Amino acid sequence: MTVQILTGQTLPEEARPQRDLWSAVRRGMRCRCPACGEGRLFTSYLKVAPHCEACGEALHHHRSDDAPPYVTIMIVGHVVVPMLMWLELAYEPALWIHFILWLPLTLAMCLLLLPPVKGAIVGYQWALRMHGFDENSDESRQGPNP
Ligand SMILES: [Zn+2]
Repeated sequence: MTVQILTGQTLPEEARPQRDLWSAVRRGMRCRCPACGEGRLFTSYLKVAPHCEACGEALHHHRSDDAPPYVTIMIVGHVVVPMLMWLELAYEPALWIHFILWLPLTLAMCLLLLPPVKGAIVGYQWALRMHGFDENSDESRQGPNP
């Protein structure tokens, strides 16, 4: 199989540079470009930059959709729910104590974890050449959405 690149030249698929999955995920978790690790991945809280400011890699191809909130809720739930249950079983505190402990903790953890989780998912998609990150796909020729 060959790869059609924009200049009209073709490359064998084996000639495409390998992308290390775990370094791309780690770079994404640091909210950095999965390709170079230097440029910022986000232009605001969760808005992915259309291109890397350092290496020019197109980042608008990501399709993370609902995965970041899903993974974030799963992580936060696995941390907060056991602590909540332990506190309830050990001390049986008043309901208001649960509210002032777990609601702010849950909210803070979700807000803090969402960007690194989304970055990791974008890095994962980039490393596996999913969607437009594959130079061979039709999606890769499309520009960023407005
Ligand atoms: Zn970059």
